[in-house]
Amino acid sequence: MAAVPPLPAGLRCRCLRCGEGALLSGMRDMREACGHRDCDLRAHDAGDGPDVLVILLLGALVVAAALVVEAKFSPPLWIHAVPWPIFILGGAIAMLRPSKATLVAPQFRHRDL
Ligand SMILES: [Zn+2]
Repeated sequence: MAAVPPLPAGLRCRCLRCGEGALLSGMRDMREACGHRDCDLRAHDAGDGPDVLVILLLGALVVAAALVVEAKFSPPLWIHAVPWPIFILGGAIAMLRPSKATLVAPQFRHRDL
């Protein structure tokens, strides 16, 4: 069983065993060890699940927002073409690491490796 509550540690992208070391390196790669207490993290990975989660959530949010803006204001097409890609890129960058860590968190809770 995990030593720290997995969901808060996952949302902070911290090691799910000690709660202090880094869980990820780069945007979405699991580290082999957390670097704080050398916790072994090699057996845990969420695969492409976080990517799919971000695509579905962000896609639904942006499509809904674009439909609301279009229905209320009927702006020219370039108004849609400029802000939405920026929002999508920023949102994907902001959501990817926490979603990866949060989807790995149940593995620490339920898989005792
Ligand atoms: Zn650790």
